[in-house]
Amino acid sequence: MKKIVVTGGSRGIGAAIVRRFAENGDMVAFIYKNAVDMAKELCCEYKNVYAVEADVSTPGDASAAAKKAVEILGGCDVLVNNAGIAQSKLIVDITDEDFKKMMDTNLTAAFCCSREVIPEFLKTHSGVIINIASMWGEVGASMEVHYSASKAALIGMTKAMAKELGYSGIRVNCVSPGMIDTDMNSCYDEEIVKSIVDEIPLSRIGAPKDVANAVFFLSSEDASYITGQVLSVNGGMVI
Ligand code: NDP
Repeated sequence: MKKIVVTGGSRGIGAAIVRRFAENGDMVAFIYKNAVDMAKELCCEYKNVYAVEADVSTPGDASAAAKKAVEILGGCDVLVNNAGIAQSKLIVDITDEDFKKMMDTNLTAAFCCSREVIPEFLKTHSGVIINIASMWGEVGASMEVHYSASKAALIGMTKAMAKELGYSGIRVNCVSPGMIDTDMNSCYDEEIVKSIVDEIPLSRIGAPKDVANAVFFLSSEDASYITGQVLSVNGGMVI
């Protein structure tokens, strides 16, 4: 039984990750901000799941929430930095506040939570960090300059952490989803979704579970020689 901390676990991909580990019998503490009802539902559904409310876009709060999650579980074996936001805007319309919020949520929170759990990992010379990036961090997306930049930086941070922490027995990888069926994409109408699907070799958008399965694999002993990598889960949309 492992101890797993997941940021942004109340909905979408994060909730699927929480379920994947909970159904395996692991103990999971997840961090969420607004979705109180969904967080409560998950905790009622699984007796091995705990919720911590915090806004991870505030660095001090992200660190404190990760610390609390580790305290609840009595340790930590795996950290999944999943909490994230997206925004579609022309670069000239992106405000300083938009840019900062994007970086604080998608990048700085992952840094803060990682920094908080690493001393826990050092105690056992083991531990796994998985950062949820995006195919747009790999190739860039028009009208998502700040989102793409935050995810590209997350990939860079993953590689640097893998190099630094490998000697301490800690593995750090990214899962990089393509188009996944969550609230984040609810702004797209049927026609746009169809045009996106036309560009996906596997001819469907992904399910949150597709990403959760990749995270589960990377956290497992089956991936014990994998670090510093970006595992793309995108149906072949970006190769
Ligand atoms: P959702 O919008 O469905 O869920 C986002 C989750 O992050 C929620 O649990 C939300 O909590 C949490 N969250 C957001 N901001 C904060 C914050 N400031 N503090 C704490 N929690 C926060 O997104 P997805 O599930 O689609 O995305 C999950 C991750 O996957 C993100 O990092 C995203 O960039 C990435 N991704 C998603 C893709 C997709 O197509 N869906 C594609 C590529 C990458 P709450 O609701 O409680 O506020």
